[in-house]
Amino acid sequence: RKNIWKLSTGSKNLDEILGGGLESQSITEFAGMFGSGKTQIAHQACVNLQCPERIIADDAIKEEILNEPKAVYIDTEGTFRPERIIQMAEALGLDGKEVLNNILVARAYNSDMQMLYAENVENLIREGHNIKLIVVDSLTSTFRTEYVGRGKLAERQQKLGRHMATLNKLADLYNCVVIVTNQVAARPDALFGASEQAIGGHIVGHAATFRIFLRKAKGDKRVAKLYDSPHLPDAEAMFRITEKGIHD
Ligand code: ADP
Ligand code: MG
Repeated sequence: RKNIWKLSTGSKNLDEILGGGLESQSITEFAGMFGSGKTQIAHQACVNLQCPERIIADDAIKEEILNEPKAVYIDTEGTFRPERIIQMAEALGLDGKEVLNNILVARAYNSDMQMLYAENVENLIREGHNIKLIVVDSLTSTFRTEYVGRGKLAERQQKLGRHMATLNKLADLYNCVVIVTNQVAARPDALFGASEQAIGGHIVGHAATFRIFLRKAKGDKRVAKLYDSPHLPDAEAMFRITEKGIHD
């Protein structure tokens, strides 16, 4: 794996437990309950892609990444907020409209659309878009509503597996950062054995290199826990979500 680069989350604490930031050529999963900050992290990543100081890369590839980088945001829950992007961008001294123009938002109403949008990213790249970040927010909600009950479990896991394979291929071939979110109903207890029972747990677990569980703390504080990484220790980091965005 050559030319790996990293995208800051906006929080130094969170970057640190990730080994420096969101890593290219990998999938990073953010799981957590409603309101834990998954969508905010995804928005901030799209903004940070437009901020050269927030891209950690060797000189040799930095130029390529900084050449009008674009994010693809596959939104399955209708929670993408242009105003929020502008607010986060302006907090960094960036032009909000410009940042917004570099985010290609695709609203997916079902899992087939979601999968098609992911497959179509390759066409966007061939057309000349320098896609460096792919967000799927949420990875699991469409599958959860469409494949209900034990009888559908195998089919659901198979499709989810295919979807993750598409994302992994894009990450590898085009040196992209990939973020997926996964809402869980309750905080898993025995760390995090129970999270494997969350939807797609098994499939997602094997396809995502970095898995982060988010939980609310006091006020605007959030705790991120990295777990099950093949090469990093389990670790926790505290960050905040304010009107400026994600930061320590
Ligand atoms: P999830 O996607 O995990 O359900 P979100 O990422 O949507 O959760 O996080 C929502 C939380 O983010 C809100 O409860 C609020 O605390 C915080 N938040 C969202 N927008 C803003 C903002 N403009 N200013 C400050 N905090 C915000
Ligand atoms: Mg969300």
